[in-house]
Amino acid sequence: MDSVSSSALGRAFAPSALTHGECARGGAPAPCSLVIFGASGDLTARKLFPALFRLLRGGLLDPRSTVVGVARSGMDDDMFRRRMKQALQDADIFEEDLWGQCAQNLHYHQLHYDSPKEYAALAKRLGQWEAERGDGGNRLFYLATPPAVYGTIAEHLGRSGLARETEEAYARLVVEKPFGHDLPSARALDATLHEAFAEHQIFRIDHYLAKETVQNILLFRFGNAVFEPIWNRRYIASITCASSEKIGVEHRAGYYEHAGVLRDMFQNHMMQILSLVAIEPPALFEADRVRDEKVKVYRALRPFAPERLREHLVLGQYARGVVDGREVPAYREERGVSGSSITPTFAMLTAYVDNWRWQGVPFHIMSGKRLQEKLTRIVITFRDVPHSMFRDVAQGDMAPNRLVVDVAPDNAISLQFQAKVPGAQLCFRPVTMRYDFSAEASGTGLDAYEKVVLDCMLGDQMLFWRQDGVEACWGYLTPILDLCEACGDAEEHLHPYPAGSWGPQASLKTVRTLF
Ligand code: NDP
Repeated sequence: MDSVSSSALGRAFAPSALTHGECARGGAPAPCSLVIFGASGDLTARKLFPALFRLLRGGLLDPRSTVVGVARSGMDDDMFRRRMKQALQDADIFEEDLWGQCAQNLHYHQLHYDSPKEYAALAKRLGQWEAERGDGGNRLFYLATPPAVYGTIAEHLGRSGLARETEEAYARLVVEKPFGHDLPSARALDATLHEAFAEHQIFRIDHYLAKETVQNILLFRFGNAVFEPIWNRRYIASITCASSEKIGVEHRAGYYEHAGVLRDMFQNHMMQILSLVAIEPPALFEADRVRDEKVKVYRALRPFAPERLREHLVLGQYARGVVDGREVPAYREERGVSGSSITPTFAMLTAYVDNWRWQGVPFHIMSGKRLQEKLTRIVITFRDVPHSMFRDVAQGDMAPNRLVVDVAPDNAISLQFQAKVPGAQLCFRPVTMRYDFSAEASGTGLDAYEKVVLDCMLGDQMLFWRQDGVEACWGYLTPILDLCEACGDAEEHLHPYPAGSWGPQASLKTVRTLF
């Protein structure tokens, strides 16, 4: 068959899905005012503003939209524009023509977070820009400040009337992680936000969920008939979800000293990943149906008996070591960290989901800083074959099948299975079938923050935390944190590990399942 007729045949039998190009693009949501609180900070410069610029470049941010940076620092529009220009240059995405278009709708508003007068001035300026645009006045308020001021800002947005929605226009609040530092503080923050905003207006971010492969997990599981029948305790022996970083605490010691790895990574990203692997099929791919199923997973997590916690949890802290050939200091030697800090920078937790599907299957969840590689990976290890007919004739061990989902830096799904080594003898070897999403997505995929902002503008809450999910996760983790932090033997249970290694000795057996 020649290539012309084969591609024609391919088209004739092609599924009715959109083409790649059509699917990647979508359309730009209606124009809006994007108001970023904490706009003088790191997140705005490094992630948020570059994401907005890329959305504009890709036709996914209406060019009439206004971006307003808000913070306490004294700046005027021009100074803020210079700063954002620099941010784009640093991210290597600056384009002169597009910048001209972008800069005219970019403003700065100095505001002290507890000053009603300054919110009234902000409301007035927003009203003017919106009148010039001639639309209903959609507003997106993005809290990129330290969490301590989330409540104050929401309260004042409510009092100044900025949180009010109309028939024509939305008012949405985007809240960065962390959402509380334990169950009581998460509930208190939620109560404050709800005084001004209804649940459908609140978007609690977990940018991990916006990663392409994480979303692909749902499609992989529920869009294919072959995997779901074996996705249970009968065929799966264990699951490992890991997210490792090479970097240390960097400039975020002030935050990290109070958070540690359990609050920084487990309460949000790792729990989200676990839920996608473990959920039951929702009836519809619709935000609340998916979030209902996730909450059921969190509620089914087995609480730990205090005396057995140490069997299921390994905590570590990085000591001096070598990363990429460079000597790096211990966590306790980092700027802003106490010399006697007992903050864990590594954790490996074995969790159990107590339901029919997952009874007895260990979920090993691991995350840490200053590890050997930057990697986010999920490994599903299947059970051994029930009976090996090759046991007397074959040489070599028969490894169990593994499904490996690479979330970052690679974006791929691989299935490992047994194959015969070619030749006269019967010998096994594991071989891999791999699908690499990144090759296909290059140039069309959205980065995590682009996806987050786009979904907020579209009003799609699928990838955002709902309050019951936040509470269920904190409900599971808070007793663990209390046990780790309250008892006097915290230091004794904190395993040091050399920077550049794969973490404490006690977790290496699980780490090996990753490779
Ligand atoms: P920054 O520490 O850079 O703070 C942002 C801005 O908030 C500062 O520029 C400052 O602006 C203002 N601010 C700082 N301290 C206070 C304070 N005590 N009270 C009131 N305002 C203050 O934060 P980031 O930009 O790094 O992060 C913002 C939020 O996003 C945080 O909640 C963080 O946890 C979250 N986040 C950040 C990530 C990152 O990569 N940076 C990643 C994921 C989440 P001014 O003084 O001008 O008011």
